[in-house]
Amino acid sequence: MATPKDGKKHITLLGAGIISLQTALSLLTSTTSQNCTITIIASHLPGDLSLDYTSPRAGGIWRTFATSRPEDAELRQFDRRTYNAWMELLEQGDGTVGTENESKDERVKRVGLGIKECVNFWGHETEETQGGGKRLWWAGENGVVRDFEVLDISDDEKARGIHFGVRYKTISINVPRYLYYVFERVRALGVRIIKADVDMSYGLEGVVKGVGRILEQHNLPEPFALINCTALSARHFLPSPEKDNIFPVRGQTILVRGESHQGRTFTDFGIDDELAYVIPRPGSGSTILGGCKQIGNWSPDMDEVLNERILERIKKGKLAEELRTGPNGEFEVLSKQVGFRPGRKGGPRVEVEDVKKEGVWVVHSYGHSGGGYQNSIGCAEQVVKLVNGLPGIDS
Ligand SMILES: Cc1cc2nc3c(=O)[nH]c(=O)nc-3n(C[C@H](O)[C@H](O)[C@H](O)COP(=O)(O)OP(=O)(O)OC[C@H]3O[C@@H](n4cnc5c(N)ncnc54)[C@H](O)[C@@H]3O)c2cc1C
Repeated sequence: MATPKDGKKHITLLGAGIISLQTALSLLTSTTSQNCTITIIASHLPGDLSLDYTSPRAGGIWRTFATSRPEDAELRQFDRRTYNAWMELLEQGDGTVGTENESKDERVKRVGLGIKECVNFWGHETEETQGGGKRLWWAGENGVVRDFEVLDISDDEKARGIHFGVRYKTISINVPRYLYYVFERVRALGVRIIKADVDMSYGLEGVVKGVGRILEQHNLPEPFALINCTALSARHFLPSPEKDNIFPVRGQTILVRGESHQGRTFTDFGIDDELAYVIPRPGSGSTILGGCKQIGNWSPDMDEVLNERILERIKKGKLAEELRTGPNGEFEVLSKQVGFRPGRKGGPRVEVEDVKKEGVWVVHSYGHSGGGYQNSIGCAEQVVKLVNGLPGIDS
């Protein structure tokens, strides 16, 4: 095994989804970068398509799922930080040389994020909507989102089953583009990328050894810390009871031609695992329609009957009228996809293993379920703090 050069600590991230890539970027743009080198090892990289790789299959939009309950405090902070960081990125740029004079539209296309108005409708009262929106922690004076307002629900909307609604500014994501943008940034900052499968058959210690073997083959030093960003795959090598906390939340989406003016969601209309959403992919001329949240469902097969329900619900709710540009007022379908959100009981696991494994610190960051983009920056900054607090990081 090679020895670290310049006394620098070698940090290895396992995975190349949004969680790993953003963590690498946050490490590189923090003070940690001065005394570490970074390698990413992953089976799938941006541009690859696989059911074992959720990030390219997201909606995606900033629409927090954190509640105002005490146990969601960390998640609220992750989501808040990501919203603010994205706004800053879109308004001020990222400092990349040569982009100083780009227009806002050029930036949207380059980065894959865009500021959009978002409307959320609810079909009946929920914990969130009680008190006319006052319990929405992300709204109002100390909230997160800009230009928040509670909507007057018209008779026509009531007839469509809408009970309550709000409007605000959010950030919508052209997911394949944004994933690639973060990937390009970490590569430009010198992160080594190794495409390889790590054997997960021999527990966490086996994974650490497997990572060590791959690094050795590339003449790289063993890691000081390994950051586990393997999402649902973590269930293959973590012990019980933790492995039993990890479960899929199956989603199904339809990509259609045209970019809707707003993001729109309609939830809580009486079917627990289905919802209606319209998510424009900024700068791409396309929009994602969804969807469902099927807990524990591993089916990779496209459910065409569900797709019909999704399209009918969006038509009936008049949620994307501007996109009905096909013959007979139909949507122009470009593609359909299934994806598995990496669910975890108790929310994302962002913590350090108590003791080193095979001489390596292991930091976990997985289980971000349906919010891995919207909490990515806040979560990555928490991982940076954990890495900076590891015994021996400064020696
Ligand atoms: C339909 C749908 C809609 C969504 N909408 C939104 C939204 O609107 N907003 C939002 O914030 N989020 C949304 N999400 C959730 C978001 O996509 C996920 O939270 C996020 O992509 C998880 O990223 P990740 O990096 O943890 O996992 P992944 O993207 O799955 O990455 C896991 C990585 O680990 C690697 N890996 C695993 N095992 C091994 C191994 N043995 N060896 C080497 N590499 C390995 C894989 O190759 C991959 O690179 C949505 C998801 C779906 C499915």
